[in-house]
Amino acid sequence: MEYQAADSRYASMEYRRCGQSGLLLPAISIGLWHNFGEAADLGNCKHLVQGCFDRGITHFDLANNYGPPPGSAEEVFGSILRNSLGRYRDELVISTKAGYFMWEGPYGEWGSRKHLIASADQSLKRMGLEYVDIFYHHRSDPSTPLEETAQALTSIVRAGKALYVGISNYGMEETLSMLAFLQAEKVPCLVHQMRFSLLATEQAALLDVLSQQGVGAIAYSPLAQGLLTGKYLHGIPEGSRAAGGSVFLTPVSVTEQVNKRVARLAEIAQARGQSLTHMALAWVLSRKGMSSVIVGASNLSQIDDNLMALQNLVFSDQEEAEILQVISD
Ligand code: NDP
Repeated sequence: MEYQAADSRYASMEYRRCGQSGLLLPAISIGLWHNFGEAADLGNCKHLVQGCFDRGITHFDLANNYGPPPGSAEEVFGSILRNSLGRYRDELVISTKAGYFMWEGPYGEWGSRKHLIASADQSLKRMGLEYVDIFYHHRSDPSTPLEETAQALTSIVRAGKALYVGISNYGMEETLSMLAFLQAEKVPCLVHQMRFSLLATEQAALLDVLSQQGVGAIAYSPLAQGLLTGKYLHGIPEGSRAAGGSVFLTPVSVTEQVNKRVARLAEIAQARGQSLTHMALAWVLSRKGMSSVIVGASNLSQIDDNLMALQNLVFSDQEEAEILQVISD
């Protein structure tokens, strides 16, 4: 049967302005880094993507290399667009990225004009799209002049292949230079996508700067890949990311020190009447200038759980102080 989006899809989601742009993003976005590769169950992928949209999650975050193998997440998403969600294209914000290793040879990664433009074309082809909403440079490239990268991003917008550009994983200095180059080209940087969670606050200073500059911030891995759900407090559950083949979260990442911190955060969450998962998302969303959090999910019930975080985004001074104590210990 043909997919029909839920009439209620805009009833409860909060939409936030991304920096000083005209674009509104859902407070919770979905990322397709894991669970959308070649080995994924297509039925589950479809159910998840459609279910997200039915719940007002309009923003889908991809990258050229998501899979495995690289490119397959875009292909899977492209097939879902073709078979169902595509008719709602004007209600979707689709992002992709280039910069990490994608193909053999000197042009398959980093920040050259050659890499970025070829990769953007490949991504559009895999997803069957004429344009993406946001095209990111995925990581800064110390060997390519930032100006070249900025001009390549600008060209992608001018060619109508992306509506906005963003950067990801850039440090403070490179960010400021990139913002200036893009500003000079009159294609302002929409958003900086950064790792940010209760277990990863290194970019807090950058968040302040972005906010002053009117550039949006979007947090990836806000649940620290699942660590901040508390699911690893008593071992590695079967079927979890750390139990699977992910090289990014392995049993070795689940250290005693991490778990001690997670357990202390869980106590604070309990005292404020929220689960740890909900508090972790709410805390990131309550940082000034944060436009959205990009969560990952293995199934739709995790999304339903995560959406409940939006019910309480307010932290008292005492809770802020207690959290600060735990994360700075
Ligand atoms: P999260 O920190 O949200 O971790 C998601 C994982 O946690 C899920 O796949 C699931 O894993 C588990 N989980 C999520 N919700 C729940 C829940 N309610 N209960 C129990 N377990 C839950 O984010 P990701 O690390 O997946 O990153 C999200 C997105 O951010 C990516 O898809 C990508 O789009 C983007 N990203 C960008 C990067 C960049 O360099 N720009 C780098 C990394 C990510 P499981 O069920 O398998 O245990």
